[in-house]
Amino acid sequence: MLVAASRSCTKLSAAMKDHKLEKTAAKLTAPYRVDGQGKFRLKHFDPADTGRLRDKESATQLLDNGVKLLSRMQEKLYAQNRWSLLIILQAMDAAGKDGVVKHVMSGVNPQGCDVYSFKTPSAEELNHGYLWRAHKVVPARGKIGIFNRSYYEEALVVRVHGKILESQKLPPSLVTKNIWEERFEDMRRFERYLTRNGTIVLKFFLNVSRQEQKKRFLERLEDSKKNWKFSMADVKERGYWKDYQAAYEDMIRNTATKYAPWYVVPADNKWYTRLVVASAIIEALDKLNLQFPDADKEVKKKLQEVKAGLLAEKS
Ligand code: ATP
Ligand code: MG
Repeated sequence: MLVAASRSCTKLSAAMKDHKLEKTAAKLTAPYRVDGQGKFRLKHFDPADTGRLRDKESATQLLDNGVKLLSRMQEKLYAQNRWSLLIILQAMDAAGKDGVVKHVMSGVNPQGCDVYSFKTPSAEELNHGYLWRAHKVVPARGKIGIFNRSYYEEALVVRVHGKILESQKLPPSLVTKNIWEERFEDMRRFERYLTRNGTIVLKFFLNVSRQEQKKRFLERLEDSKKNWKFSMADVKERGYWKDYQAAYEDMIRNTATKYAPWYVVPADNKWYTRLVVASAIIEALDKLNLQFPDADKEVKKKLQEVKAGLLAEKS
């Protein structure tokens, strides 16, 4: 078993060197992709899964190569200025969202990438429909946008805590038992609209186990360098674990589509989580067949003239 695993790691590393990473990425992410085909059950996804990889070292090497490839792809995305990429990260606390942003996007030019963290809505935000604050910051053409939490909180924390819904100032007659179905429908349509306008939408649920979350909370309490990450609110939310799992399951079941799939990413091993997310992004960008824009004949002629002029200058 171990021999087979290390052999497949060697094969994977070789594939990266041959620039076949795009194909490897697709294979790696396939088990975690949920796109609305068949009935989704969260319990079928193991948070501790590490696929064909057994150790951090081989995954780290793969991720390093993936980050370099991502950097080259992003340069083309930006230069081409046609497509954009929206990455949505959702998870229970301490599942590793921040680490994904830091490690997966480490090679990307900051000019071409924006990260937005969605917190409790402000008074102004509550005076609008819930998609308003998200729509304002979806990535422009050529750019990558990362949503650290998103409008999906509207079917998670708002669903788990009924009081939040009451504070949303909706006309009472619109708050019926169908509200979650209606929200899912609006989210699907919103994403359909975005994808029809050139935004690729990738959604990641970092699937951490209850035991691993406990371990990470304890680390935050014990290690003084991690104390700042600890929040009493996170422990409170942990008390609603089952409700959250049910809300996540229903949300993914209702909003996973071919055009905007969810990836249920195993999150008990951070090194594997990061590799799966990077791979899904690489796979999606690869499908766009990104190229640096080629200047047309007229422009090329002009460029040559400018070049000749510059070379002819005396000083
Ligand atoms: P994170 O927990 O994502 O790492 P953080 O610890 O920096 O971020 P928090 O203060 O925990 O910041 O902010 C996120 C909080 O905002 C979460 O508890 C989340 O549930 C809440 N939140 C986000 N969107 C909404 C929303 N639409 N309605 C109510 N609460 C929301
Ligand atoms: Mg928090």
